Amino acid sequence: MSDSESYAQRLAGQSQLTAAAFHFGEIVAETDARREARAELKIHRFDSTTEARAACDRDEVADGDVLVVDSEGVVGFLVVALPAAITEERGEFGQLPSPAHEYADGSYADSAHLAEYQARVLGAPVRIEHASPAILAHRADTVLVDTGDERAHYADPFADVSLCEERQSRGLEESEAADRKPCASCRARARDRAASREAALRAEEEAAAQEPARPEVADPGTHTFDSSAEAYDASQCRDDIRDGDVLVVPSEGIVAILNRAWPAALTTAHGELHTLTAAADAIEGGRYKASVEAAMQAAARLDVELAPLHRPVEPYAAGDRFVCADGSTRTVDAAERGRDGHLWLHTAEGSAWRADRCEKVDVSRVDEARAAARRAAATLRNATPPAADEAAVAIRELGEALRYLAQASPAALDDLSAECTRRIVAELPRLSIVPGDIVHMLGARFHVLDTGVQDAHGEKPRWWADVHGVDEADRRATYRAPWRAAIAVEHAAWDLLTVERLAPTQPF
Ligand SMILES: [Zn+2]
Repeated sequence: MSDSESYAQRLAGQSQLTAAAFHFGEIVAETDARREARAELKIHRFDSTTEARAACDRDEVADGDVLVVDSEGVVGFLVVALPAAITEERGEFGQLPSPAHEYADGSYADSAHLAEYQARVLGAPVRIEHASPAILAHRADTVLVDTGDERAHYADPFADVSLCEERQSRGLEESEAADRKPCASCRARARDRAASREAALRAEEEAAAQEPARPEVADPGTHTFDSSAEAYDASQCRDDIRDGDVLVVPSEGIVAILNRAWPAALTTAHGELHTLTAAADAIEGGRYKASVEAAMQAAARLDVELAPLHRPVEPYAAGDRFVCADGSTRTVDAAERGRDGHLWLHTAEGSAWRADRCEKVDVSRVDEARAAARRAAATLRNATPPAADEAAVAIRELGEALRYLAQASPAALDDLSAECTRRIVAELPRLSIVPGDIVHMLGARFHVLDTGVQDAHGEKPRWWADVHGVDEADRRATYRAPWRAAIAVEHAAWDLLTVERLAPTQPF
């Protein structure tokens, strides 16, 4: 690819999608202008790369925006009309022909940077050519140095020459290095080195996996400490603390196990101790099962939370219902353990969810919930209207029963809804609405199809509801298709809506 090619020509050479964009010259011209004007990049999360592509095709993603698909371990960004992955996994995404940070003369450097950060958060490996200079230096076990020209060179730590054999004068700060063009010769060597280093690490891991299994830890001891620092030191030098023993630090709410020489916390709090990257009971084929069992009991006694990775994962079977990280309830199509060691729940719609971040719905109380809904409705429909506080309790109980049915058995909720001839009208905060309700918004009436609270990584939780206009006029006044209303949870807790709630009758 020669430097004389324009940005647009380069794009056009890459795929049919972008070629099409090139022919609409104004699209490219417009996105170029937009990129200049871009104040802030957005991060979009999707259930699958297929879904992400569809959103890009619908123009819901701006040029340069970052795309994250947790379930497939894919992170990338949108290049005009092509979603391009920077991670090893790419699902349905395309691939950039040159390093993300330099692509199109570096116009996507901000996107590449943000995407790389998201990939790190996710633990998804980034393809070596898309790594930023600082990350590449780290992966190649090198440092960035100055050799007297304007470029950033790579060198072995403590070596006096760079990889391209120029004499180095000093190391570069990360921010300083970011402003410099990397030396191409050094970078090619750094990439080779990172690739072979990572291949060696993988081989080592595989070899370790084939090592004869060590016997299971039986009857682990428990040791209590005043601080995690003390626990750390003791684990390194006291002979009575053995591999697999449980370390408890009540003052910091920490419970840990000694994993070989590593004191690793299983609780959310870890203080001075290490954390694990895999579920503790899966290490070495379950060698630490007894330790984990003892640690869980210690955590329960202290009333502290285990880190999500170590919370016991319930077994799942096809047909089970579960609440996903986005707050919606889905049905398991298949459950299988991924290469990453996590249990993944696949749905018929094609999305996949990590079981340890989901909650299984207990479906054993459907009859009970149906009866509770009828009982609460009877109170509300009574010929002599209930007192205000009694009505408030009844409408809440009715809501809870309906919410449970929506999660546990949508079919039971449909049946109840079909036999329902009356609805109770109340003013309720958005947060209390449930599937099956009709809500009044924007001067129209909407069926609530599903609702929940999305707990996005590091962002403020948002309340959402998927709604659909009740009749033709409601849809004409708003949206034809079902759509999602969403606001911050703190507002949803007090923003009142008029709600028409199902009031099922007692069966005869
Ligand atoms: Zn160099």
